[in-house]
Amino acid sequence: MTDRENLLRKVVRDFAESEIEPKVEAMEQTGEFPVELLKSMARIGITGIITPEAYGGVGLGYLARMIILEELGRVCAAIPMGMQVHHMACAAINDFGTEEQKKKYLIPLAQGETMGCVAVTDPSGGSDLIGMQTHAELKGDKWILNGRKCFISNSHTSDFWVVIANTGEGSKGLSAFIVRKDFPGAKVGRKENKMGLRGANTGELVFDDCEVPNDHLLGAAGAGFVVAGKTISETGRTGMAAVSLGILNACLEEAAKFASERILYGKPISELQAIRFYLAEIYTDLDICKLLCYRVSWMKDQGMKCDTETALAKYYTCDRALYCAKKAIEIHGSYGIMKEYKVQRLLRDAMVTIPAGGTAEVAKAAIARTVLAPYKK
Ligand SMILES: Cc1cc2nc3c(=O)[nH]c(=O)nc-3n(C[C@H](O)[C@H](O)[C@H](O)COP(=O)(O)OP(=O)(O)OC[C@H]3O[C@@H](n4cnc5c(N)ncnc54)[C@H](O)[C@@H]3O)c2cc1C
Repeated sequence: MTDRENLLRKVVRDFAESEIEPKVEAMEQTGEFPVELLKSMARIGITGIITPEAYGGVGLGYLARMIILEELGRVCAAIPMGMQVHHMACAAINDFGTEEQKKKYLIPLAQGETMGCVAVTDPSGGSDLIGMQTHAELKGDKWILNGRKCFISNSHTSDFWVVIANTGEGSKGLSAFIVRKDFPGAKVGRKENKMGLRGANTGELVFDDCEVPNDHLLGAAGAGFVVAGKTISETGRTGMAAVSLGILNACLEEAAKFASERILYGKPISELQAIRFYLAEIYTDLDICKLLCYRVSWMKDQGMKCDTETALAKYYTCDRALYCAKKAIEIHGSYGIMKEYKVQRLLRDAMVTIPAGGTAEVAKAAIARTVLAPYKK
């Protein structure tokens, strides 16, 4: 890390500890994202971290993004969950938007005026993109959008949404749109009550003959599969890896602190060999995941192809966060499952990272394609 990256980490760590930590309990109770923090997050570059300066961001790139999401996640993983999807919307508009769309929609996102939202998942199945049922048809100069999106992050805290809908057949039969929540026929549906990442808003979007002007098509008609694929792979998977990396940091800190303070047989349990082995395992997993996450972010910043590495970082980091949260709880004995202790939240949050951003099985299928490519006949 450079001095600038270390400074960024320190600034975000201080912000997370002073501004987010006091709000964690309320987030756990209400399930609401603290939108009042958006403006201060914008001031230190969090909301516009990957958005070019020309559109109101700071344009520091993906390694910087990894650092800030990791630091936020160390304190409360729900915050980087919301932020990473916010960045997905920024990336989709920046990569595929027209100049006019970028000016109109990237600037408010970068400046924290609203949250970004990317709606791909249909109730008919998140993994089966092509099979989605949300449908749009061009009539005159408007697309008429019908259907429903579920499990959408920032659904209720965003003023406009990047929506993928079916407009034809096969992988060239999906298109992407920017849909404002005040367009006729657009509305939010139910808000989910999740076991973890509670402060990250997740809910439904409903389209009932929703009228989307043709100039709100994002990318070309039929490019929706590419818009969704690139955004999920490069920004979504790295973002979910970052959320889990934050959880892993917290697992190690909480476990090591408790093990040093809990006295059994007249001495701290950190003296017990089994506990030391658990701590060593968590530390090893954290270190491996850091390397995977920083590597893939660096590759993305260099403009290198990194689809396999994003799948690997997402699936492995989320998997290890779940394992290490369980180990951290075990080190706590029964205290670990009590609401007063942070480790139980880490386990609930880690569980929710597994399907979010695409499941482990779908990520592994992508990795396996790379493994098998040289042997393809
Ligand atoms: C907290 C949270 C936030 C989310 N935010 C968003 C968001 O902002 N935008 C959005 O669009 N979606 C979002 N999602 C939805 C998420 O992307 C989907 O839930 C996920 O892609 C899985 O879809 P599904 O739940 O419909 O499961 P399904 O696709 O029905 O999968 C069911 C099971 O089948 C397995 N499976 C599916 N395909 C394969 C395959 N090819 N090979 C092997 N196994 C397979 C899956 O791994 C899983 O075990 C979010 C989810 C959560 C939990």
